[in-house]
Amino acid sequence: NAKESRNSWKRYEKKMNLKAKEKLLLENDLRIALELDQFYLAYQPLVDLEHEHLVGAEALLRWSHPERGEISPADFIPLCEENGFILPLGEWVLRQACMQMKMWQDQGFPPIVMSVNLSIRQFRQHDLSERIGNVLKETGLEPQWLELEITESIMADVAFATSMLEKLKKIGVRISIDDFGTGYSSLYYLKRFPIDKLKIDRSFVNDVLTDRNDAAIVSGISAMARNLNLKVTAEGVESAGQAAFLKEQKCQEAQGYYYSRPVPADRFEALFEAERNK
Ligand code: C2E
Ligand code: CA
Ligand code: CA
Ligand code: CA
Repeated sequence: NAKESRNSWKRYEKKMNLKAKEKLLLENDLRIALELDQFYLAYQPLVDLEHEHLVGAEALLRWSHPERGEISPADFIPLCEENGFILPLGEWVLRQACMQMKMWQDQGFPPIVMSVNLSIRQFRQHDLSERIGNVLKETGLEPQWLELEITESIMADVAFATSMLEKLKKIGVRISIDDFGTGYSSLYYLKRFPIDKLKIDRSFVNDVLTDRNDAAIVSGISAMARNLNLKVTAEGVESAGQAAFLKEQKCQEAQGYYYSRPVPADRFEALFEAERNK
């Protein structure tokens, strides 16, 4: 009846207001979080499947909030993309990750590639390549050790994406397509774009041992990448069985909890040490 539906509408409204209020609170906190040093990066290893060598690290943003504790990037990055805060925050991530990798190199750790996630909003900045060039110059990291992870969403504007990717390639950084298979990339542009790597989305890797369709997709992407001369990384590898399947498919690299969760810099150094003693 009418009264009931009015009540349920009120409940709905109350919930929405809370959500909006919550968003506002979070937005305020975000703005001061950078100044107060509440963000840090966690690093997850990328492993070469054939030799089980450490070949890379993906930098993943973490926020330790003084009252709420650790907030997952899935809970604040969409908001940052919406309100534009991802621009200064993303540049902080980039600088921090490059600085860290340069420091590890100076400490004599074996060279590996540092991957940094780039939001579509960052990618659309006309001066992105200059900004990245500046960060590399400031931190002293050579461009071949930096890999930018972008998603298939950049392909919505093919002309812009092509010219931006070419500018980035000119600097000498590497480009990978993140969450590959979940967006709508055209295979035609995959060949035309100057990209170096596909990262197969975790959702396909998850059930690779039990779902024949997922297995077919993963082996198909691996074969296609090989033929297009692209590297390929499987994301979200959680078991030895999955790793063995991927190795069989000649997938080059893997990343996932089976090897390590994303860890703070000091714990990543322990992984480097273990590598040395292999
Ligand atoms: P992503 O780029 O696809 O990063 C991989 C996510 O999968 C990470 O979640 C990682 O912790 C998680 N993961 C890795 N291995 C496994 C596994 O074996 N099993 C499972 N279940 N999960 C695994 P995280 O750190 O929570 O990040 C979530 C997303 O937030 C990222 O997904 C990325 O889209 C975004 N993100 C994180 N840091 C940044 C950043 O600095 N900039 C931007 N623009 N986005 C970021
Ligand atoms: Ca990523
Ligand atoms: Ca991913
Ligand atoms: Ca993602």
